[in-house]
Amino acid sequence: DGAMSIRKAGKIYDPEGVHVEALKDCSLEIGAGEFVAIVGPSGCGKSTLLNTIAGFDGLTSGEILLDGEPLATPEKDPSPGPDRVVVFQHGALFPWKTVLENVTYGPVVQGVMSEEEANKRAQEMLSRVGLNDIETSYPGQLSSGMQRRVEIIRALINNPKVLLLDEPFRAMDTVTKSASHQYLLELYDATGKTIFFITHDLEEAIFLADKVLVMTTRPGFIKKTLQVNLPRP
Ligand code: ADP
Ligand code: ADP
Repeated sequence: DGAMSIRKAGKIYDPEGVHVEALKDCSLEIGAGEFVAIVGPSGCGKSTLLNTIAGFDGLTSGEILLDGEPLATPEKDPSPGPDRVVVFQHGALFPWKTVLENVTYGPVVQGVMSEEEANKRAQEMLSRVGLNDIETSYPGQLSSGMQRRVEIIRALINNPKVLLLDEPFRAMDTVTKSASHQYLLELYDATGKTIFFITHDLEEAIFLADKVLVMTTRPGFIKKTLQVNLPRP
């Protein structure tokens, strides 16, 4: 589960006649359980692609398939779903809930798990990555690095097919960033989820991903993707 085909995806923003080709002829294949990083300069369309996969935004041409099923086409606006979860650069934890409550809230409210079940699963995941001692802490008591780790656990608890990460470790200091990398790889190895990771940091992409895709912008809005496959040690 979690294989994606992106075929000649295009997105034109046309607010009041201002024609912006945010994505053009973007094609890529992502295998189930693959860790793919997308790098590229600001404005090349990375977030646009992530947002269409996440279901926040529609395509104007081409298509995106998830496990063979159309997710987004010009005729079909995508919608967010529990099979695709996003973690952004900026914190999104409920400040008034503890770490454990933040992680269990979603599946309990959606009726996917009982509170007991969610607690058990959350505790397992938190302890797997050494975060069990912060279960009762509030987000405000945690560093941004810790908060981001909790958000990734929260994203994974519902067992999504695809984890979408939009520069989650941007603006972190080097030590926190490398600890977060280690942490993400541990969770990736443990869960085998498809990961779609956006960054403008090539070094980070190469360290983390099995496959790095480079999006480029050229004059005339010709956008290309170049693929590099990296066997991780
Ligand atoms: P990246 O994530 O690689 O920095 P984006 O996907 O955010 O790039 O943006 C790609 C292009 O689309 C940019 O030129 C940006 O200004 C434009 N764009 C993004 N969102 C919108 C929008 N809602 N309306 C108009 N233009 C947009
Ligand atoms: P602020 O207004 O300072 O962002 P809030 O208390 O509104 O603080 O929300 C804190 C965080 O919780 C926000 O980053 C927001 O993304 C997230 N949040 C708030 N309400 C919801 C909600 N209904 N569903 C999901 N996330 C939410």
